[in-house]
Amino acid sequence: MRPRAQLEKSIVSQIMAKLKKVPGLVIRKRHGTVMGMAGDPDLYGSYRGRHFEIEVKRPFDSKSELTTLQAERGREWSVEGQAIYGVARSAEEAFAILGIPYSARQPESYWLCGGCRGYTWRGSEAPARCPRCGHRHFEEQKQGAQHG
Ligand SMILES: [Mg+2]
Ligand SMILES: [Zn+2]
Repeated sequence: MRPRAQLEKSIVSQIMAKLKKVPGLVIRKRHGTVMGMAGDPDLYGSYRGRHFEIEVKRPFDSKSELTTLQAERGREWSVEGQAIYGVARSAEEAFAILGIPYSARQPESYWLCGGCRGYTWRGSEAPARCPRCGHRHFEEQKQGAQHG
């Protein structure tokens, strides 16, 4: 991850997309409306019967901290409600809050360059371009069973 400005909503989207793939987990985005409770966390859901609340903050931004109200809501959810609660600045941190190994949701796949067919990349997403030939199309090669 590069240390550059990222909008909170893009972190929220990344966390949602990755957690949605975890079996036994339901996640929702809390929309701020006049009907809502001010300061409640950005995300909520259930993981194997346990309610969780996650406040999302921007990474690499010292100004992106919990407000007094958000901290109070976090205390309510975690101490009084005994929910799982944490502040996440990345999908990795959200997984850590829930006690789910981040590697567990990574599909066991790698990518083969469709141009030179001699460069492979291991990861959940294809690289933007092949460092060897500059080609932009990669073919996904499945290996082993995909988690969940
Ligand atoms: Mg937030
Ligand atoms: Zn290539």
